[in-house]
Amino acid sequence: MDKFEQMMKDVKSASPAELKADMEKYKGMCTCPRCPTYTTCAKNAQELLFCLVGKSFMCISEQKICKCPTCPLTPEFGLKSNSFCMKGAEKAQRYEHALWGTKIP
Ligand code: SF4
Ligand code: SF4
Repeated sequence: MDKFEQMMKDVKSASPAELKADMEKYKGMCTCPRCPTYTTCAKNAQELLFCLVGKSFMCISEQKICKCPTCPLTPEFGLKSNSFCMKGAEKAQRYEHALWGTKIP
């Protein structure tokens, strides 16, 4: 089990209050607002943490660059993917690669 899988397992045993507190902490660490791909629409909708919650909901449709590789949460969560605002959450991307037998670039 790698770091991300362990984190997903830990989440299942956390209380709702613990989860809420963790999400607030992680939102403050998310680098997306400093990424050129991030839009005013996403900011106004308070979209963050795409690696956990999944794609942007109709606010981001053009990828410029992705700052996820330099985000402090990438090593903390053990993320292997990026471009989560357009490609979906880490969990979803891992599932798709497993399904199609492809490798995460
Ligand atoms: S890895 Fe990317 S999507 Fe996840 S918190 Fe960091 S900047 Fe945001
Ligand atoms: S997920 Fe990556 S590409 Fe999308 S806004 Fe965040 S840092 Fe930029």
